[in-house]
Amino acid sequence: MYKKICHRCQRPSFSSAGEGEWICPVCAEDLTSQPKLPANQVRPKPKLDVVYGKSRTKRNAN
Ligand SMILES: [Zn+2]
Repeated sequence: MYKKICHRCQRPSFSSAGEGEWICPVCAEDLTSQPKLPANQVRPKPKLDVVYGKSRTKRNAN
């Protein structure tokens, strides 16, 4: 997993390959020649423990 910081919009983009063509998904800038950085940061998966509708409240909007 690699990431590159776009020199144009300053936003990070991630890729699992890190090789070949690398286009910024935000501004479509060509980042192929930019240095790639190791993306060691593991993004936590969102927990699905929250059950929607459990505390559903009906509003009587007359
Ligand atoms: Zn960009």
